[in-house]
Amino acid sequence: MEKNKKWRYIDAHAHINIADFDADRDAVLLRASEAGVYIIDVGVDLSTSEKAIALAKKNDGIKAVVGVHPTEIPLNEKDRLVLGEKLRAIAKESEVIAIGECGLDYFHNDDEINKLAQRELFEMQIDIAHDLNKPLMLHIRNGKGRNQNANEEALEILSIRKPKAGGNAHFFSGTLEEAKRYIELGFTLSFTGVITFARNYDEIIKNIPLDKILSETDCPFVAPLPYRGKRNEPAYVVAVVKWLADIKEIPEETVRGAIMKNASRLFKI
Ligand SMILES: [Zn+2]
Repeated sequence: MEKNKKWRYIDAHAHINIADFDADRDAVLLRASEAGVYIIDVGVDLSTSEKAIALAKKNDGIKAVVGVHPTEIPLNEKDRLVLGEKLRAIAKESEVIAIGECGLDYFHNDDEINKLAQRELFEMQIDIAHDLNKPLMLHIRNGKGRNQNANEEALEILSIRKPKAGGNAHFFSGTLEEAKRYIELGFTLSFTGVITFARNYDEIIKNIPLDKILSETDCPFVAPLPYRGKRNEPAYVVAVVKWLADIKEIPEETVRGAIMKNASRLFKI
């Protein structure tokens, strides 16, 4: 990706495989390609993961991430094992550059049985990533109450299992101290269009090194300004990069170039 001058931006976390794009996916992909945006298309369950692989096979400038999102976890243990095995099989495909999105989400589900199931499938996916030497695409979201710190638990699990290819903490929403711990474990952090209208990410963006930052849209969700409230798409990642540069007070071209290098290094693309 990095050597091909066509690609000037990266959307490190997009969901172009989902039904929101069924009616006009080709037009969305064309706009991304015209803007020079390389896309990392992320699955949230088995079927969206398979769609991500199919899209990556069909299109230049798209790679796939396969995994099970923490809100999509089967509560039955046998189902989790079967799912883990199926995931391991498709994760070997050459279009698959990372495993996820996976992790812990205590915001949507925080009862103890669900948390146990989340942790189990998260560990399974860490092991798949480690065995295949592919990075992880993390989704970690804290719950509201006490003892709901998903970042703290994820960091604990990762520091025990030490997945060798590291990964990226998508839509990072932890503290600066947690950000530094992810970085120590070999992770980058990616930021969405939320940074264009919410100021609570500024301190973290300012205080982490440029070589640990990635840009993403998480489309179709959270469109950046000036598209806020509309369906998001990969071409809008250009606005995220502009804001990262403004917040860090570094020239936009420097930030853009660094992000391309970071993605190339992490995902081996
Ligand atoms: Zn996502």
